[in-house]
Amino acid sequence: MTGSRAESAMDNRSQPSNPGARQAEDSLVSITDLSLVYTAHGMTPVHALDKINLDVTQGGFVSLIGPSGCGKSTLLRILGDLLSPTEGGIRIGESSPRQSRLNRQIGFVFQEAALLEWRRIGENVALPLELRGVSRAQREKKADELISLVGLDGFKEKWPRQLSGGMRQRAAIARALSTSPRILLLDEPFGALDQITRDRLNMELARIHEVTGVTVVLVTHSIREAVLLSDRIVVMTPRPGRISCIMDVDLPRPRSLETRNDQQFEHLVRLGSKELERGYGSV
Ligand code: ADP
Ligand code: MG
Repeated sequence: MTGSRAESAMDNRSQPSNPGARQAEDSLVSITDLSLVYTAHGMTPVHALDKINLDVTQGGFVSLIGPSGCGKSTLLRILGDLLSPTEGGIRIGESSPRQSRLNRQIGFVFQEAALLEWRRIGENVALPLELRGVSRAQREKKADELISLVGLDGFKEKWPRQLSGGMRQRAAIARALSTSPRILLLDEPFGALDQITRDRLNMELARIHEVTGVTVVLVTHSIREAVLLSDRIVVMTPRPGRISCIMDVDLPRPRSLETRNDQQFEHLVRLGSKELERGYGSV
């Protein structure tokens, strides 16, 4: 029985030219034949991404997973307009990543929270609004709302140094959400946290995704985290970075930490691990 579910869950499109394409009418992100080669004077070019095709549904939760160096951060940076592709197309709604970034429709969270130490938490959270010229009253209102959303009630007037690693990441998520982006990009945001804090933040992220309806693309090293949170998991392989398979995660929502006791959860973790190991084979 689990065998047949395995096959339906494993959406393994073997043609390398078009492994991730899915023409969905409700897609927000559409990536077509996207490649990136890093070139620098005197260096051998690095083919970081090769013909990536991927659609992300509006309101969806997609995780990118794969061995170190397979191009996860590169792909996320292209989505966030921190890098331009060498070839191929990328749309976020009707816009390019550049237009989306300029319209503040993209929120980015990195592994390090990168808060400004000389600003209180509320001022850090509202910084993107301040840069945009939003009035103080409106900034305060939005900061209050977001601080509450990420579970930091009572910490608005604190300094970043007074917060734990997990709390700093909560503040970074709040800041990324301050302009009400359409898409939230997270690059291994919980990688430096202990397991219990990580579990808690996983559940916070699931709840934030649910209540805001924001589309999420998460880079993670953990297949368990990916299965717990995602609708779809994109497994990548290195040299050059390619999509090896896309897994659909059909676990019911809302999810909780108890979801991990579900047989189907374990089954998907096993399936994903196997696929990941294939990628590590070439490292
Ligand atoms: P991941 O996030 O999956 O670990 P990256 O996207 O960071 O992978 O990197 C993909 C590949 O591109 C790796 O081989 C990495 O060494 C290379 N790379 C990343 N950034 C640069 C850069 N600025 N210049 C040259 N090569 C880079
Ligand atoms: Mg990375």
